[in-house]
Amino acid sequence: MIVRKVQKSLHGVPTTEGAGVHLKRAFGYAEAPQFDPFLMLDDFHSSNPDEYLAGFPWHPHRGIETITYLLEGVVEHGDSMGNSGVIAAGDVQWMTAGSGIIHQEMPRESPTGTIWGFQFWANLPAAQKMIPPRYQEVKAATIPELLLAGGVTVKIIAGTLGGVRGPVTDLAIEPEMLDISLPPDTVYEHPLPRGRTAFAYLLSGEAGFDDTGEISRRETVLLFDHGGDLVRVRTKGVPVRFLFVAGDPLGEPVAWGGPIVMNTREELRVAFDEYEKGTFIKS
Ligand code: FE
Repeated sequence: MIVRKVQKSLHGVPTTEGAGVHLKRAFGYAEAPQFDPFLMLDDFHSSNPDEYLAGFPWHPHRGIETITYLLEGVVEHGDSMGNSGVIAAGDVQWMTAGSGIIHQEMPRESPTGTIWGFQFWANLPAAQKMIPPRYQEVKAATIPELLLAGGVTVKIIAGTLGGVRGPVTDLAIEPEMLDISLPPDTVYEHPLPRGRTAFAYLLSGEAGFDDTGEISRRETVLLFDHGGDLVRVRTKGVPVRFLFVAGDPLGEPVAWGGPIVMNTREELRVAFDEYEKGTFIKS
């Protein structure tokens, strides 16, 4: 078994998105080619309503999946098809935009005073960019939590571990999305088939994410190389909690225009033209 090496380690960069939501972008446009099939990861974490209440008013998506995982607070969403709902603490919304959706995502004043969540984007293969939109809404209580030897806990949102399958399924990139907590002084090994892209994002604590002895801390994203079949995480004096996300790379051309990601400039032009003309929504 060969241990994956950390190929890239990046700290979130403060930025504002939507109508003025303060967030940290762990990776995005410039780094996306290395993260294929993943495009972007944002961490929004604030106890100041002025930094998040403006939200993400009506905007389109096509050609991608947007995945929202909320740890604290409440986000209301609504879309062009008349769907609406609330994402609460611990919930996941896996939205496959496919041919197109126009939606808004609006954080509400948090009951705890703090909002903390993540959104990452996964690219769709060319053959599926124009499929009908689909939601997989996952409530916190339905996410299986696996307790492993040594006090390791793993929430399985997508993928299969220890014979337990996460609720998010039937996606081309075969995603794995786990929320993993390790106690201090632990070595955790996670199988990862060769060739799959995987990253970890630290929510709290610190740990080593390969065998180099390098220690990473919160708000860092770690991209693993493609050459091994195992990820090894080592904690010392403090516990660590991290998101672990993996998927099959697409290896296709990317034409990215804001919230729309296609394969060619022409497809992008058509998408924005249709949005302008009001013919963007296909189903
Ligand atoms: Fe959106």
